Amino acid sequence: MDFALSEEQRAWKDAATRFAREQLLDDLDLPGRDERREFWREGWERCARFGIQGLPVPEAYGGRGKDLPVTIAAMEGLGYACPDNGLIFAMNASLWTVSIPILLHGTEDQRRRFLPGLCDGSIVGANGASEPEAGSDIFSMRSTAEKSADGWVLNGRKTWVTSGPVADLFVCYASTAPERGVMGISAFIVPKETAGFRVVREIPKMGVRTVPMGELAFEDCRLPHDALLGREGRGAEVFNASMEWERGSILAGALGTMTRQLERCVEHARKRKQFGRPIGKFQAVAHRIVEMKLRLETCRPLVYRIGWLKAQGKDATMEAALAKLHVSDCFVKNGLDAVQVFGASGFVAETGIERDLRDGVGSLIYSGTNDIQRNIIARELGL
Ligand SMILES: Cc1cc2nc3c(=O)[nH]c(=O)nc-3n(C[C@H](O)[C@H](O)[C@H](O)COP(=O)(O)OP(=O)(O)OC[C@H]3O[C@@H](n4cnc5c(N)ncnc54)[C@H](O)[C@@H]3O)c2cc1C
Repeated sequence: MDFALSEEQRAWKDAATRFAREQLLDDLDLPGRDERREFWREGWERCARFGIQGLPVPEAYGGRGKDLPVTIAAMEGLGYACPDNGLIFAMNASLWTVSIPILLHGTEDQRRRFLPGLCDGSIVGANGASEPEAGSDIFSMRSTAEKSADGWVLNGRKTWVTSGPVADLFVCYASTAPERGVMGISAFIVPKETAGFRVVREIPKMGVRTVPMGELAFEDCRLPHDALLGREGRGAEVFNASMEWERGSILAGALGTMTRQLERCVEHARKRKQFGRPIGKFQAVAHRIVEMKLRLETCRPLVYRIGWLKAQGKDATMEAALAKLHVSDCFVKNGLDAVQVFGASGFVAETGIERDLRDGVGSLIYSGTNDIQRNIIARELGL
């Protein structure tokens, strides 16, 4: 068994770290983009030029053709050096819920039409699945898609959509046969300029503020026949596959963020003196930092194992749920511990310590809440 990164993984991880240090540090902290809740399209494009959005997409469709372990390593490197968790989250949402579903379930024509733009940064992708009345119980969605002579007519609402207000292309889910329940759900590719489709509002939120969240409406929204992604009535398959990839990989960047947090805490605990000694010499502080280290070290193998499983073409339903559950939990706990180690300087906005905590909280909820991850794991265990 080899726990070391391969040469290629190491190279991409280091390159992503260097790239982020050189090109992704602009204008985040007070009074920067986080405060202004502003999406950074220029940063998005820089990441695309570096290759992030196309990492696991084959070269034939404009990507870099790398496997998931390399993609995960690059994301970890990016998370380490780029403090803009919102930008990283937006890229992950686009990658796992738009690019990968199109790659896995799209027709050749759909792949050739959309993947090059998703890789080169000209298209921001977003996922419209959740609805006001359908969150954890996602397949109870009410949005409908009726067949018409020239395609489909969609009606309904989608909410909590990451990148919604700035996205160019959406993968959305609607029922083509409500009487068939989950077997009536279908997936559609929706360009933002489609008539009858609109972003209703931007929804302000606690963290990952540099990526806006939106509510979407379909009002007799007319789509052509070839907007259907995958087979009619098989949208749940598209959704479940995209969630498996997303749950397993979306928190690779958090491994880097947690590493950065840990290093900052060690540095602070060595420098900050109270009662005539560095605070790191107080066991309470040192042990808090040890817990942070322990959590981080238990997270990394879970995430890299998903990479290994998917690179072998294996199912990772249970492993992805375990990784999502544990890493998000640790991300939030480490964020809270970091604030505690820094004291008031961790609580105020100017150090960026509280921002990582705020950015982490959403991970307990997105890609299925952690209660839902526990339900999936229990089901996989036969309970
Ligand atoms: C930052 C962020 C980004 C998001 N991005 C997107 C996006 O891009 N696209 C998109 O479609 N959606 C997105 N979502 C929505 C997300 O998928 C939903 O919030 C999530 O599935 C939970 O649904 P809900 O918020 O309606 O909560 P509810 O389903 O109402 O759940 C409320 C509480 O009840 C618990 N609960 C519900 N059912 C069960 C059960 N069976 N067993 C145990 N506990 C249960 C939940 O765990 C939770 O604690 C995002 C959410 C967040 C926070």
